[in-house]
Amino acid sequence: MSIKVLTIAEQKDGKLSNISFELLTVAAATGGEIQTACLAEAADGLAAELAAKGGGKVLAVSNPALKFCNDEVYAKVLTELINKYQPQLVIGAATFFGKAMIARLAAMNNGAMASDITGLTADGDKITITRPAYGGNVIVNLGSKEGKIFFVTVRPKVFDESTSGDGEVVAETVANSVFEAKTSVKESVADAGQSINLTEADIIVAAGRGIRGEENLPIITKLADAMGAAVGASRAIVDTGWIAYSHQVGQTGKTVNPKLYFAIGISGAIQHLVGMQTSKTIVAINRDKDAPIFNIASYGIVGDLFEIVPALTEKFESVG
Ligand SMILES: Cc1cc2nc3c(=O)[nH]c(=O)nc-3n(C[C@H](O)[C@H](O)[C@H](O)COP(=O)(O)OP(=O)(O)OC[C@H]3O[C@@H](n4cnc5c(N)ncnc54)[C@H](O)[C@@H]3O)c2cc1C
Repeated sequence: MSIKVLTIAEQKDGKLSNISFELLTVAAATGGEIQTACLAEAADGLAAELAAKGGGKVLAVSNPALKFCNDEVYAKVLTELINKYQPQLVIGAATFFGKAMIARLAAMNNGAMASDITGLTADGDKITITRPAYGGNVIVNLGSKEGKIFFVTVRPKVFDESTSGDGEVVAETVANSVFEAKTSVKESVADAGQSINLTEADIIVAAGRGIRGEENLPIITKLADAMGAAVGASRAIVDTGWIAYSHQVGQTGKTVNPKLYFAIGISGAIQHLVGMQTSKTIVAINRDKDAPIFNIASYGIVGDLFEIVPALTEKFESVG
């Protein structure tokens, strides 16, 4: 039996996030009937883009209340769409916003829930997901439960983006009362120190306590600029106030999955590793040859970061 799948597109500042197209690849793998919820202040253009890239029937909801991703409002609107279209599987993004919103949505719809999945297969209406657990030390397979809607969030950058399709856009009308909420987002302010979204970055240059002080952070940001990379951080330097929390990678920070991850002056504590160990290539720079980070590094450089990082920056700057 073919299932109905609802994916939830994510947008920021009127632009679709890459993860929205990765979700469509996951949805296509089910062989089911795909619908995509596109919620925005003005959703029509975004919905057309999704329809052309594998979004199937794209349900476009436009309203000023959807300008910012407020999980309370999104969950209420999405519940309306779920009631109307009756999907068995709902797929969202394992992003800061997606994780909060899907948990709320699953609770509102008495569904089953699995977060941060890295694999999904479907045999008719039987869905099996794969996700890391216990800090990435084990990989678990979980099955859907009969009679429950299965809500999942997908780890960014694990799946390729869907690039083609010939879906249709359906403009959905939702009652005004649905947009009323106890909370509202007044403003969204960009992190001045981060021009590239950490969870979507292809390259991350991350710093740890080895940089010794906030005054040395520019050594790291210069390398990041030279490589077009986002700047990550261990919790040690976030807790000391050398860098903002939005840069933190790990158990209590962000989970990232870039093509290339530089760990500079980071020892490799398990709480850091769980946030970055699925990176495709990991380069560690540490003066301690026994630092645990070298156990998971693809390439290791044993030495003083204050010599190695400026030399690397010079090299990258010289090749443009
Ligand atoms: C519940 C909980 C949640 C946590 N969540 C997170 C999390 O989300 N993210 C996270 O990162 N941590 C987290 N931690 C903290 C974690 O346990 C570690 O304390 C932290 O990751 C250590 O950061 P660090 O590697 O920068 O510092 P350190 O462990 O102090 O390592 C510094 C490294 O720099 C190297 N070094 C020093 N000088 C130089 C130099 N000149 N050149 C080259 N290398 C040099 C040293 O050899 C050392 O390996 C959590 C801890 C707990 C208990």
